[in-house]
Amino acid sequence: MNRVCLVTGANRGIGLEVARQLAAAGDTVVLTARDLAKAERAAGGLPGTVVARQLDVADQGSVDRLARRLGDSYGRLDVLVNNAAIHYDTWQRASGADLRVVQEALDTNLLGAWRVALAVLPLLRKSAHGRIVNVSSEAGSLASMGGGTPAYNVSKAALNALTKMLAAELRGDGVLVNAVCPGWVATDMGGPGGRPVAEGASSVVWAVDLPDDGPSGGFFRDGHPLPW
Ligand code: NAP
Repeated sequence: MNRVCLVTGANRGIGLEVARQLAAAGDTVVLTARDLAKAERAAGGLPGTVVARQLDVADQGSVDRLARRLGDSYGRLDVLVNNAAIHYDTWQRASGADLRVVQEALDTNLLGAWRVALAVLPLLRKSAHGRIVNVSSEAGSLASMGGGTPAYNVSKAALNALTKMLAAELRGDGVLVNAVCPGWVATDMGGPGGRPVAEGASSVVWAVDLPDDGPSGGFFRDGHPLPW
């Protein structure tokens, strides 16, 4: 495909598999992790053109450095996959939440995605087919919101709101912005019993591969709309 694709939190789990699938399709993948050594190890195991870079989405300096480097190396970015996330906080409830945990979740899951999007926006605008895919979760759907996992759920609901706003504001630039739930996936975060990582990653790659007249501002799993 020959796109330049940036994947956050790609040293393991769904991010790593998204990187693998994009690289196998012929894209240039910038595989990022907050620990450069982990990014290099992960990139070394993948086929195709995969470049390892350090990126901590919660660190503005790290985000700015990567954006500068992308600009110097490629002069554009075609795809941003905001995958990095933390704190699936099954141990607490909204009515007794540790707000430091909530704050950390927001800083990575919401502001991390937002921070990276802002930093690379000038490069995405230079692409003829810009895409932002925010890896969200049905846990962030207000339509089915109950109690539990408060930091995670609120961060993903807010990420969904950001998705709709960016989609509306970037429509004129031809950048499609969507939120995707990968489903329950057997990763470190999802735990055992979920579906294979390849299936969760395919749900994400579907939104990367949308045609220019494809949807923007939507929430999908496996290509099917989910209720907000
Ligand atoms: P995972 O196995 O826990 O991997 C999370 C990745 O995010 C790791 O690479 C981690 O890096 C990285 N990360 C965390 N904080 C970061 C930061 N500040 N900067 C950069 N990278 C950071 O989780 P996963 O299951 O693959 O989840 C991937 C995405 O899918 C997440 O957005 C998650 O919310 C979503 N999701 C997962 C499921 C599921 O069932 N697994 C369901 C719905 C949605 P380190 O190795 O350095 O910690």
